[in-house]
Amino acid sequence: MRRLRPSVILLALLGSPAWAASCSVELAASDRMAYSANLIEVSRSCAEFTVNLRHEGHLESTLMGHNWVLVRADQQQAAANAGLLAGMTHGFVRPGDPAVIAATPVLGGGEAASVSFPVSRLEAGGQYLFFCSFPGHAALMRGVLRLVD
Ligand code: ZN
Repeated sequence: MRRLRPSVILLALLGSPAWAASCSVELAASDRMAYSANLIEVSRSCAEFTVNLRHEGHLESTLMGHNWVLVRADQQQAAANAGLLAGMTHGFVRPGDPAVIAATPVLGGGEAASVSFPVSRLEAGGQYLFFCSFPGHAALMRGVLRLVD
């Protein structure tokens, strides 16, 4: 019997069926005011989707705070404005804002946080945006979240 090399066996174990979707994403932010990705695809086969946000910078949350806020595209501006009024105390997200589907707390350098939301909150064909609601960041820190098969 031919012996398989360990690397081949490892690959076989790691290989996942085509239908298995990843229901989470690792997202990083830094002192350079940017996310590591500006497109997140969410499989409709996921019941819940989790965003793991890491701030890889060094600056304090009061200077270079980052969060991750998910909204319908047409409600982004309203949610951002409401977040600014809510202020740092509320992590720049208005408490109970119906426009906000999911949001992490504001992080400073070296911090991490996760947020999960039911994928049923996303409508087929809906346009969704994620952004950092820290003052002045949304112009650069934003991206598209898309529901996919
Ligand atoms: Zn930010």
